[in-house]
Amino acid sequence: MSLRDDELDRYARHIVLPQVGGVGQNKLKASRIAVIGAGGIGSAVIPALAGAGVGRLTIIDDDIVELANLHRQPLFRERDAGHAKAEIAVQFVQRLNRFVKADQVRERVDAGNAQRLLGGHDLVIDGSDNFATRLAVSDACIELRTPLISAAAVQFQGQVGLFRAKPCYRCFVGDAFDAEDCDNCAELGVLGALTATIGSFAALMAINAIVGIGEDLAGQVNLFDGEKMSWRAIRIPADPACKACGSA
Ligand SMILES: [Zn+2]
Repeated sequence: MSLRDDELDRYARHIVLPQVGGVGQNKLKASRIAVIGAGGIGSAVIPALAGAGVGRLTIIDDDIVELANLHRQPLFRERDAGHAKAEIAVQFVQRLNRFVKADQVRERVDAGNAQRLLGGHDLVIDGSDNFATRLAVSDACIELRTPLISAAAVQFQGQVGLFRAKPCYRCFVGDAFDAEDCDNCAELGVLGALTATIGSFAALMAINAIVGIGEDLAGQVNLFDGEKMSWRAIRIPADPACKACGSA
């Protein structure tokens, strides 16, 4: 795979970086990333990855745009209310970068369909808004041996972690959250600029992982406090009894 002249122009500010170069830009072009959730986090992740030239994006969301989304989901405009988020997000990508192939999946990810929907991707970024989905995604990524970046934000708190096989996201949060709807920002509220911060961090982490920049951060979760304006990184120990990765 090589870059055309108009791609070289487009990505010139990437390619001039010694950490990226033509080789790194080609890795981005060759990569296929699934983004779960075209919400607050997805609204930062999707434009960043599309702009960066990730070759294929699968955008998975079964929700429709509502007025109460707009304060944190700049993928959408007022006139998009009532339309499918995945569809509008794909249109956004197509307008932003014709070199990116974007597919929409208007399904809710659960334990029954996660492996089918996520198979064939080099990386999964989960920006969904509930633990049941996040755990189903994590379990599927273990089975598929696909790296996972899991990102979440609520109120003024956010977290982003990269997981490869062991430890997994389930080691981090435990099994208690498999129930549907045990949390979401409808009840708790969330600051729009916070989801953008967490989503941008997740996108940068994804680009670094695909290109191979910096050290491998697998097993580390980065926590952001939006009131104190500070980041903190914690290492997640593998749970030997984890029902997803414990016997892996
Ligand atoms: Zn685990």
